[in-house]
Amino acid sequence: MGKKTINLGHFEPATRAMGPGLRACLWVRGCRIRCPGCISPFYLDQDPKADIALWRMLQKIRKAKEEYGIEGISISGGEPFDQAIVLSELCEAVHILGLSTLAWSGYTRRRLEGRRASRGTQNLLQHIDVLIDGPFQIRHHTEGLPLRGSGNQRIHLLTDRYCMDDLSGSHLEVRMHENRAVQITGVTDYSKALAILNLMGLDGHTAMSR
Ligand code: SF4
Repeated sequence: MGKKTINLGHFEPATRAMGPGLRACLWVRGCRIRCPGCISPFYLDQDPKADIALWRMLQKIRKAKEEYGIEGISISGGEPFDQAIVLSELCEAVHILGLSTLAWSGYTRRRLEGRRASRGTQNLLQHIDVLIDGPFQIRHHTEGLPLRGSGNQRIHLLTDRYCMDDLSGSHLEVRMHENRAVQITGVTDYSKALAILNLMGLDGHTAMSR
């Protein structure tokens, strides 16, 4: 039996910036890859105080489905495959709810399918519809690539749930909360998000993917 908690950085119940349609998105904490210029530096380290029980995470996703009619979940980070066992259980349950699953990984698909992959990886791959793989490489960073921060990353359709046309959109969401904190959601780099905040003359925090 796997670990039943997810080390979570942020949960967004409904966004259009993290894959096709309206989706809930999890940013998990912890990444062993450490790409130079990491596009998601908030979530590089795990935080023991940030564990959330698997059942509680599922409850939040069910609520997002009821309240917003999400069509799926996306998992970013941090590195989802560094928590493969618990996330495979999450994605299996999410599929049973009729929702789709998309995940980014800084590992290549080849590495994930090979013998060096960590425990739970094959199960997680079995419950993911779309995998976007490969580390963020600052020298291949290209603005406006749908769902990718750098040109070396690839979109893999692991099931027939989506086609490539479904994955061609590129959005950034900017939201201001009641306390005036600003949140930027989308696939962009940290410096670009900060530049947007500076242009707006606002303080805030960002939540992004690679
Ligand atoms: S860009 Fe992604 S894979 Fe690379 S260090 Fe940051 S979180 Fe890890």
